Amino acid sequence: MKQILCSITSNAEVMPGIHLMWIEASDIACSAQPGQFITLRCVGFTLRRPFSVHQVGSNNVIASEAKQSHIAFLFKVAGKGTLWLSQRQTGERLDILGPLGEGFTIEPKSKHLLLVAGGIGIAPLVFLMQYASSQHQITLIHGASTAAQLYPFSLAVKKRSKLSPLPKGVQFIPVTEDGSMGQKGRATDILPDFLNWADQVYACGPVDMYKAMAKMSLRAKQSNLKLRKCQVSLEVRMGCGFGACYGCTINTKKGLKHICRDGPVFELDDIIWQEVRI
Ligand SMILES: Cc1cc2nc3c(=O)[nH]c(=O)nc-3n(C[C@H](O)[C@H](O)[C@H](O)COP(=O)(O)OP(=O)(O)OC[C@H]3O[C@@H](n4cnc5c(N)ncnc54)[C@H](O)[C@@H]3O)c2cc1C
Repeated sequence: MKQILCSITSNAEVMPGIHLMWIEASDIACSAQPGQFITLRCVGFTLRRPFSVHQVGSNNVIASEAKQSHIAFLFKVAGKGTLWLSQRQTGERLDILGPLGEGFTIEPKSKHLLLVAGGIGIAPLVFLMQYASSQHQITLIHGASTAAQLYPFSLAVKKRSKLSPLPKGVQFIPVTEDGSMGQKGRATDILPDFLNWADQVYACGPVDMYKAMAKMSLRAKQSNLKLRKCQVSLEVRMGCGFGACYGCTINTKKGLKHICRDGPVFELDDIIWQEVRI
C-alpha cells in the first residue's frame, strides 16, 4: 500500500453522470489486482473516497504488463466528493492510497467465468476481464436502468477512446430495465441461464442485487442448478479504508470482517445477508 500524489492525465464524462479518470500511478499500476481499490482525498472532506481500480495501462490506454504506469477509475457522481472529483482537470494532482483490500481470485481449474455487473458495478469487472480474457472464456452480463448507462464498449473501439474495448472472445450481454437495449429486466433475470456453464461467478453491483443472488443460490442448492463459487464486491461506505477503524465491519459465517481489509471481495455464501443494512 502506497500513499502518493498522482497527476491526472485525463478526466472525461463517458456516460451521463459517469466519469473515467486516468492518473499516473506506476507504484499502484504495477501491483494492483482486479477487485482491489484505491482511496483518494477530495479537498474539503475528512473521509477519503474509495474507488475500484477499473483499468491499468500506460499513457491513458490499456497496455502490456511491462509498461503499466497508469490506473483508471470509473466513477458515478453520487454526492459532493464525486462532484468535486468530476471537476478536476488534467495536470492537477490527487492524494491516492492503494492498492487496498483483497480482490477477486480465479481458481486454477476454472475455464468459464461469468461476470455480473449492476450499473456502476461494471468498474472492477472490466479490470478482471482485461486480466483474465486471454486464458478464460468470459461472459459479461451488464444490467443498467437504460442504454445510456451501459458501458460503451463500441465507443471504445470507434473513437480509440480511453475506455476499455471488449476483449476478443468475450460474450457481452446487455440488460436494461426500460428495454432500450438488450433484454428488458435486470441482470439477475438472465443469470440462471448461465449457472451450469460458469465455473466461477463474479459480481459487482448494489446490495439488493446480491440479496437476489443469495436467494438464487439457496434455491439452486435445492435443484440441479448451482451458483458456483460466487464472489461479490461489497462497495459500502467505509472510514479509513485499511482496517484501522471499525467503520465497515460486517458479520459473516466466518466471523466479523473488515470490508476494507478482508474484502471488498467476499464469497456470496459467506455473508449473512439478513444482517446487511447498507
Ligand atoms: C471498495 C469500494 C469501491 C468503490 N468503487 C466505486 C467505483 O469504482 N465507482 C463508483 O462510482 N463508486 C465506487 N464506490 C462508491 C464510492 O466510493 C461512493 O459513491 C463515493 O464515496 C461517494 O462520495 P460522495 O462524496 O460523492 O458522496 P456522499 O456525499 O458521501 O454521498 C452521496 C450519496 O452516495 C451514497 N454513497 C456514499 N458512499 C457510498 C458507497 N460507498 N456506496 C454506495 N453509495 C454510497 C450516499 O449514501 C449518498 O446517498 C466504491 C465504494 C467502495 C467501498
